[in-house]
Amino acid sequence: MGIHDEDLERVKAETDLAGIVSQYVALKKVGQRFSGLCPFHNEKTPSFSVNADEGFFYCFGCQKSGDAITFVREIEHLDFVGAVEWLANRLGIALRYTDSTDGANRKERQEISELLEKTADFYHQTLRTGKQAGKVRSYLRSRGFDSETVEQFRIGYAPDQWDALASHLGVAIEKLEAAGLGRPGQRGGAIDFFRDRVMFPVCDANGAVVGFGGRMLPDGQQPKYKNTPQTRLYDKSKVLYGLHWAKKQIVQADEIIVCEGYTDVIGCFRAGLDRAVATCGTALTDDHVKTMVRFAKRIVIAFDADGAGKAAADRFYDWEHQHNAEVFVAAIPEGADPGQLAEEDPAALTEAINSAEPFLSYRINRVLDRADLERVEGRARAAADTGAIIAEHPNEVVRDQYLVETAQKVRVDIEQMRRLIVKPSPQQQRSSAVQQDTAQPAKQVEPKPPPLVEVNLLRALIHQPDAITSLVLPAMFTDPIAAEAHRLVISDGWRDQINDFSQPVATLVGRLVVEEVDADPVELVSRALDAVIDRWHTEVRYDVNDIEQLRVHQPMVQWLAQRQEEMHSEQTRTAAVEAIVDWLRTQDSDKDSTS
Ligand SMILES: [Zn+2]
Repeated sequence: MGIHDEDLERVKAETDLAGIVSQYVALKKVGQRFSGLCPFHNEKTPSFSVNADEGFFYCFGCQKSGDAITFVREIEHLDFVGAVEWLANRLGIALRYTDSTDGANRKERQEISELLEKTADFYHQTLRTGKQAGKVRSYLRSRGFDSETVEQFRIGYAPDQWDALASHLGVAIEKLEAAGLGRPGQRGGAIDFFRDRVMFPVCDANGAVVGFGGRMLPDGQQPKYKNTPQTRLYDKSKVLYGLHWAKKQIVQADEIIVCEGYTDVIGCFRAGLDRAVATCGTALTDDHVKTMVRFAKRIVIAFDADGAGKAAADRFYDWEHQHNAEVFVAAIPEGADPGQLAEEDPAALTEAINSAEPFLSYRINRVLDRADLERVEGRARAAADTGAIIAEHPNEVVRDQYLVETAQKVRVDIEQMRRLIVKPSPQQQRSSAVQQDTAQPAKQVEPKPPPLVEVNLLRALIHQPDAITSLVLPAMFTDPIAAEAHRLVISDGWRDQINDFSQPVATLVGRLVVEEVDADPVELVSRALDAVIDRWHTEVRYDVNDIEQLRVHQPMVQWLAQRQEEMHSEQTRTAAVEAIVDWLRTQDSDKDSTS
């Protein structure tokens, strides 16, 4: 859909998958293929494999597989068209669109995107050289934002005028509105959305500007922060400030630091913690977490002390469970935020991040910090408070571990403490029930892998089709997934159709494409024929009760035995294989004509 076939083919043909993958993970050449750590799951030994000639990847760990477009879709979180555009961009290929509305939509997004780019430049230049920005420059300097930081984060200034940006851009008011940059004024002209603010451009994961955050100056107009309203490109519940600057380091460290504000992210970078992102004027959402876990499993919450304390515990636990994330909390000292801390005591910020604790442990320790454990009443209160917190955790084993540990700290008998841990709320019970329900059947439906002989045959068929395609027949496949995979790999242009097939078939074929054939393909056919002949023998034996019928089959049994013997010697193999395959073909057509 969307893009002209010809352009799509060109993008596919010119894309170098190994080169693309190397931008995310280090690849090593192993034999005919490349191997590295999988960018889609956490691992210590490489199980991610790229077949550069074929343009396919497969992960032996998480079974993700596909071509360059699939790779870009997954890693950059784009749709199909978006991924093709992403690749086309790098190759310098101008795409043509088939569907005019689709094209128009893309064009409109493109226009908004260009306006936002120009705007970021305008604000940035105004801050760097504008006369009216003098006070802003000295304010930023006083906060420790040197010119390098201003450059790196493309920080800008929106002048204190009604229409500075609108007149600079000189586009229709509707376009300004669509980009979230302005609105119609009462006297007809356009009014800028941001005025007299320090501007932080917000980018998507690829670095394209999608919106802005504007911070007020010390004596400027309220509110403290103003963000781009919802537009076609800007969705505050999804966007993460700083992600495109930090993503490489996030993947490397397998850790993402999430803050509440633009200056917190910049502070983290300045303190050497260049794996920080921030939500833009909203609480952390499920979509944010989904995005973050694509890059790292370990999420370190670096909110100010109040923010972390108030964070909704049940949601964190849900996310840990649903997205297989690990949520940690950095203990930012009371009354500070990461941005401030970076300015005043960067070592303390690094220490807070490095000593982040699991969310539950963080909450318990905050209670214990404030408790008066010298007095009986203080200990009783601390036991009750920590008990209530522990009770919220959905996992019984986790609850019990913390119970034992905490009981010791508050010097309360374990059994007494256990009574304080009230039963989880119905909602939590439900979520832990779901946990068990989903965990178990998943194991039961695990499909049986296809027989090795059939898998080997498919692999040879994929890599050396000329040698054996004519020798491989559907009757050689007993496993339904292998049979379907066979239908796939003998069809024309099958590499583009992998994803039209069922997941198990796509996964199997995806894996085989990156594997290497380690035996003579004709010999692999001969092994498949051995299996076919075995099955034929069994059938004949069980189906034919009549001695007379058995006698009818006798010459065929003998003939097959001779061919089988020839098949197992190298000199006579090919001819014998061909003979048996011919026989198998007549068997198949017999079946077809009788059924
Ligand atoms: Zn993987």
